Amino acid sequence: MELIGPDDALYDVLRRPAQPQYRDIRPQVIARCSSTDDVIEALAYARSAGLPVAPRGGGHCFAGRSSTTGVQIDLSGLSAISVDSGVATIGAGARLTAVYQGLHEHGLTIPAGCGPTVGIAGLTLGGGLGLLGRKYGLTCDRLVAATVVLADGTVVACDASRNADLFWALRGAGGGQFGVVTSLVFAAVPSPAATRFRITWPRDRAAEVIDAWQAWAPDAPDDLTACLTVTGDRTEVFGATLAAFDPGPFVDGEVELRDDLSWPDLKRSLSEGDAEDRVVHSKSGFFRTPLPRSVVSELLGAGCDLNFTPMGGAYNRVPVDATAFAHRGERFLIEHAGPDRSAVRRSWAIAQPHGSGRVYPNFPDPELADWAAAYNGPNYARLADIKHQYDPSDVFNFPQALGGAR
Ligand SMILES: Cc1cc2nc3c(=O)[nH]c(=O)nc-3n(C[C@H](O)[C@H](O)[C@H](O)COP(=O)(O)OP(=O)(O)OC[C@H]3O[C@@H](n4cnc5c(N)ncnc54)[C@H](O)[C@@H]3O)c2cc1C
Repeated sequence: MELIGPDDALYDVLRRPAQPQYRDIRPQVIARCSSTDDVIEALAYARSAGLPVAPRGGGHCFAGRSSTTGVQIDLSGLSAISVDSGVATIGAGARLTAVYQGLHEHGLTIPAGCGPTVGIAGLTLGGGLGLLGRKYGLTCDRLVAATVVLADGTVVACDASRNADLFWALRGAGGGQFGVVTSLVFAAVPSPAATRFRITWPRDRAAEVIDAWQAWAPDAPDDLTACLTVTGDRTEVFGATLAAFDPGPFVDGEVELRDDLSWPDLKRSLSEGDAEDRVVHSKSGFFRTPLPRSVVSELLGAGCDLNFTPMGGAYNRVPVDATAFAHRGERFLIEHAGPDRSAVRRSWAIAQPHGSGRVYPNFPDPELADWAAAYNGPNYARLADIKHQYDPSDVFNFPQALGGAR
C-alpha cells in the first residue's frame, strides 16, 4: 500500500472525483491499494490515525460519498479481469470500458451501465441499470460472489452459501456501507452484436413522445431498451436492440441506425460527445404508472433536462426480497438534471407525487427526507441488521448510510 499525501504529484490526480462539485474535498491521505492485503493495511492505518475512510472506485458518486477529509481508499490498482468457464472475476477498481473490452475478448459481457469511466463496484453495489438489463437484469443480479474487507481487517468471502446475508446486502443497497469490496465475480452473458438507434424530434413534440414512450418502452420485448431524453432543444428516443429494429409508435421521427456494432463499440458510441467537467445537479424517482398529460406539460415547463429509463423485463422478474435492490415493480425511472439546481428541484417536485416514492440507490439525493424508504423500501430493516452485524462500529458511514439511522 502506498500512502499519497498532498505534496505528492499523484495526489490531485487520484483525489479528483468525476463530479466537479466535490473537488474541494481534500483527503488527509490517499491509500493507493493494489491488493486485498493493501486494503487491510489501509483500514489499519485509518483506525490507528482515527480518521474516517471512503472507498473510491470510479469516483462518480452523485452525492460525493467516495470523497473524504480522512483516508480515501483508492482501488484503481485492483483492476484485473479474468474469465474462466463463463465466470468473470473483476477487480473492484475496474471501470466499465475496461470491463466491456476485457470480457468481449472472451465473447462475453455483463449487463451494466453506459458511463465509460463508471466503476464496476459502485455500479454493482447500488444495482446497475443498462442496455442489457431488460434482458438479463441488473448488474448485481449477475453477481455470484464477492470478497470484502471489513472495518477490522477481516477478509470475508461471500456468495449464496457463505455469508449469504452480506452477499444479499451487497446486491443493491448502495456502495460503501459494509466494507471494502476487493473483487466481484459475475455469471457473464454472451457479448452480442446489436443495433444502436436514435429517433429525434424537435423539442415541441416532447409531450406526445413522452405519452407514447410511457405506454410502450417498459413493455417492449426484452431485446430492446429504449431510453428517452428531453433537452432544451430536442426530444430523443435512443437505445439498443438485439433483434430487428422496431420503432414502436415512433414511425414519424428522424431515425438514425448503426447496425451490427460489437457491444464495446456500441457502448463507446453512446458516450461520444459527452460533456465532462460540467456541474450537473440531479434528482430522480421511480414510477409505476404513466404520468398524465397535464403533469407532463407542467414538467416540460420546469426548465431542466429529463432522462427516462425503462424498467420492466428481467429487472422485474426477480422477487423483491431476493436481493437488497427493492425496486422490482417499477415501470420507469425519471432523472431531472441540469446546471440550474432550482429548476431540477421544481421538476422533481412536479413529478414525484405521481411516482412510487422510490429512488435508485445509485442516484443518491442528499435532499431526500425519508431516504431509507426511498432507497431500500421493504428491505430496509433487514439491511440495517446486516449493517450492524458486519460494521458494528459504523466505520463505513456518510449521511443517509444504513448505520446512522439505527
Ligand atoms: C456519467 C455517468 C454515467 C452513469 N451511467 C449509469 C448507468 O448507465 N447505469 C447506472 O445504473 N448508473 C449509472 N451511473 C450512476 C453510477 O452507477 C453511480 O454513480 C455509481 O455509484 C458510480 O460508481 P463509481 O465506482 O464510479 O463511484 P464512486 O464514487 O467511486 O463510488 C460510489 C459509491 O460506492 C462506494 N464504493 C466504490 N467502490 C467500492 C468498493 N470497492 N467497496 C465498497 N464501496 C465502494 C463509494 O464509497 C461510494 O459510496 C452513472 C453515473 C455517471 C456520473
